[in-house]
Amino acid sequence: MSDDMTGEQKQKREAGRDDPGSMSDDMTGEQKEAFLAELRRQVGSTGTPTTARDPVNQPMIRHWCDAMDDANPIYTDPDAARRGPHGEITAPPAMLNAWTMVGNVPRVNDPQDPASGVYAMLDEHGYAGVVATNSEHVYHRYLRLGDHLTGTVKLVEVSDEKQTALGIGHFVTTETEYHDQHGHHVGSMFFRILKFRPGTGRSTGSGDGDGANQPQPRPRPSRNQDTDFFWQGSRVGELRIQQCLGCGHLQHPPGNRCPACGATEMGYRVTSGRGTLYSYVVAHHPRVPSFDYPLNIGLVELEEGVRLISNVTDCRSDQLKVGMPLEVWHMQTHEDVSLPVFRPARVPRNPTTLTINEVGAGDELPLCPIPLTPTLIVSTAIASRDYQEVHHDRDMAIRKGSEDIFMNILTSSGLSARYLGDWAGPNAILKNLRIRLGVPNYPYDCMTMSGSVTATQEVDGVATVTVSFQGLNSRGPHVTGTAELGLPRP
Ligand SMILES: [Zn+2]
Repeated sequence: MSDDMTGEQKQKREAGRDDPGSMSDDMTGEQKEAFLAELRRQVGSTGTPTTARDPVNQPMIRHWCDAMDDANPIYTDPDAARRGPHGEITAPPAMLNAWTMVGNVPRVNDPQDPASGVYAMLDEHGYAGVVATNSEHVYHRYLRLGDHLTGTVKLVEVSDEKQTALGIGHFVTTETEYHDQHGHHVGSMFFRILKFRPGTGRSTGSGDGDGANQPQPRPRPSRNQDTDFFWQGSRVGELRIQQCLGCGHLQHPPGNRCPACGATEMGYRVTSGRGTLYSYVVAHHPRVPSFDYPLNIGLVELEEGVRLISNVTDCRSDQLKVGMPLEVWHMQTHEDVSLPVFRPARVPRNPTTLTINEVGAGDELPLCPIPLTPTLIVSTAIASRDYQEVHHDRDMAIRKGSEDIFMNILTSSGLSARYLGDWAGPNAILKNLRIRLGVPNYPYDCMTMSGSVTATQEVDGVATVTVSFQGLNSRGPHVTGTAELGLPRP
């Protein structure tokens, strides 16, 4: 990235980094004030309504559900939908703003539009970076096939100039009201983005770029002819456990003869990789440089009955519970070495819907890992009709100051909604979904969702449960939010 910079740009960037107070631009205080006043000139006004390119339709819903891995049948199965709370197919509510996305066409900034006018002004003044930080949906009703939405955007707020981790910039807040073809109000979205100057962040590249903070690789495992099959298995994504060719006994760690029958002819079985946490310890000291602390060390009992010691990744130490379901994944530590380690396993979707009597404040939702594959990040961006390069083109993402492609905010909403729906069941009704984003979701990481019930109450005659939730990746919280769901009575 820095190769593209001129000496002057580098100097500016260094100046910005050393002294965040020097706003690294050419405006005087007076000019800044005038600029801010201009940015705020249209706060409170509303733009021209935008009509969705397509009505709510099954192919876009199916594409969304495939990409998000949301299997709630009320979105795609007419029979299940007929028996459900709406009596017909409905769109996943978190798709609300996907319907009016412009698609893969050049963006035309309408200077009459208060929000796009502000974005254009910020672009012109060097605040070219953009990242969404907050999204709050309120759903008045679920959308049905054939509904044709119109969105009207109001400019709500432009913040003072702020120094953020990403760079110096302004937060711009909008509120969009969605109406159907009959003019009925079906939902609204409060949305906040940060427009920032690329290269003015507090932590450019999160410190990984210069190699100084690169973690040391894990120690190489020692191998011999008795254990080679185990390490070779991990290289190809298999958890292999030694098995006696005489009596079928499974043993771990591998040995050179069977403790059950004494035979010396040993093979292996490829296990399912699923198991439960039998016991664990959390190591704090002494710290070995190759490991992250606190370090979760688990004794994992495989479905096949064998126990092995490994790391439990992708959850905090305080989330460890004896008996929790785990699944193996293979952590590549060297070009030719992978280690089988475990993370919380995804609990299957609840096929029946919770009733309000079955939940209470303090209840915890099961942990749910979401492996952040490039396919997930790219396909969900496109399924939400978000064609911004930073979500699918790594070269462009890096050029725009990011480390890699990253998940878009509609997907963070969609995956949060999927997580809540998988717990509450297919007929729970999502009434609102409020999220705030933290660290980005980059490929090859894993985001683990967790949540808890904070309240149950009557809201307008509907039994309603309030849930707070979080999605944590290896860098910290990616998404934090709350939601209200309507649940049936028993
Ligand atoms: Zn044996």
